[in-house]
Amino acid sequence: MQVGYAAEDEAFRAELRAWFETHYPRFVAAWPQAPDPNALDWRRAWEDYVCQAGWSGLGWPLAYGGKAWSLTRQAIFHEEQARIGAPLGVNLIGHGILAPTLIHFASEAQKHRYLPGILSNREVWCQGYSEPGAGSDLAALGTRAERRGDHYLLNGHKIWTSFAHIADYCFVLARTDPAAQRHKGISFLLVDMKSPGVRVQPIRQITGEADFNEVFFEDVRVPLDALVGEENGGWRLAMAAASFERGTYFIPRQVRFAQEVKALQRLAIDTGADRDAHLRREVTRLALDSHLLRLKGLRALTLALRGGPPGAEGSATKLHWSEAHQRLTSTAAELLGERALAGPAPGGHDPAAALWAREFLWTRAETILAGTSEVQRNILAEQMLGLPR
Ligand SMILES: Cc1cc2nc3c(=O)[nH]c(=O)nc-3n(C[C@H](O)[C@H](O)[C@H](O)COP(=O)(O)OP(=O)(O)OC[C@H]3O[C@@H](n4cnc5c(N)ncnc54)[C@H](O)[C@@H]3O)c2cc1C
Repeated sequence: MQVGYAAEDEAFRAELRAWFETHYPRFVAAWPQAPDPNALDWRRAWEDYVCQAGWSGLGWPLAYGGKAWSLTRQAIFHEEQARIGAPLGVNLIGHGILAPTLIHFASEAQKHRYLPGILSNREVWCQGYSEPGAGSDLAALGTRAERRGDHYLLNGHKIWTSFAHIADYCFVLARTDPAAQRHKGISFLLVDMKSPGVRVQPIRQITGEADFNEVFFEDVRVPLDALVGEENGGWRLAMAAASFERGTYFIPRQVRFAQEVKALQRLAIDTGADRDAHLRREVTRLALDSHLLRLKGLRALTLALRGGPPGAEGSATKLHWSEAHQRLTSTAAELLGERALAGPAPGGHDPAAALWAREFLWTRAETILAGTSEVQRNILAEQMLGLPR
């Protein structure tokens, strides 16, 4: 049994690593101040740089300007980018969710209109699914798109829309046939965020940041050619988009988890907590989590390379990672003690503690976003264990 990558993939990794090790420190050095790893301008600037260097559309067909890399090479790219400590981008939704959905389902005209903006990172996207009355039960959504001649008239209220305040476009699930069964009357629309009638209201998070928003659509005219796939056929696209999200979401997060475990070990030594039996046990358990998450990532990659559909394994990994990540940052807060109480604001006198405090608070969201822990457990119960609904 071989756990790891083939020799030619490792050679490819060495090339990428050399690129990141040359360019990333140079990019950091040119930034006017010490970068805040979570600041959106910093995240966007690095993402722009990477795209303009040509590292974009990694898995897309060549015909749309992509690189047509194998899943393995894409995984290696994301691993190496995370390994150097580079931030996550702000157009993750455009690159990771929308682009593969367009490649599979959009018309040629739509592909030529929208893919170049994602490839170059010129156009940032957000995802307008959740509503105040529709989250886990997404098919309960009430946003309406009524056909009026050459356009739809869009009305509704979305919530928790990440990056809507900086996004150029939003892909929106809206009900186009209120009389149809819940899953059948929904369409997938591409909405220009500059359209009259779009209002974005940021939501302040527990970390103090405001990266997600409420979005109000009030009589927004959406041209008919902004419909992807068939009218009332949006649910199928939404499900496919979710499987694309699971494909790319986890790799950088697993690498970061491993790095954070190492940072936690250093923190335990620095604070003298490495002599405390309880904390030693916690840190050891997290090191095991890190190893298991890597193996789960490799298993998911192997299954995908064999052409299998994304299964409940994605739910198992998401559940494990999000809950272990909360334990990791809780342990860090325990180690830091009073230092963690100063909170997450960057620029204070204890930036290391502020970063951990921010992570501790932010990880609360991870058991909610992309499917809550309870919903993941339902999936595992039904699909892996065969329990009744
Ligand atoms: C940081 C962050 C970013 C997000 N970004 C976006 C975004 O960009 N676009 C977007 O559309 N949405 C986004 N979301 C929304 C996210 O998808 C929803 O929060 C999530 O689907 C849960 O929906 P909800 O918040 O309405 O909770 P609800 O679905 O109302 O759930 C409330 C509670 O009930 C539990 N529950 C619900 N149904 C069941 C069930 N069947 N069995 C057992 N328990 C159940 C849940 O687990 C939860 O504990 C984001 C959320 C977060 C936290």
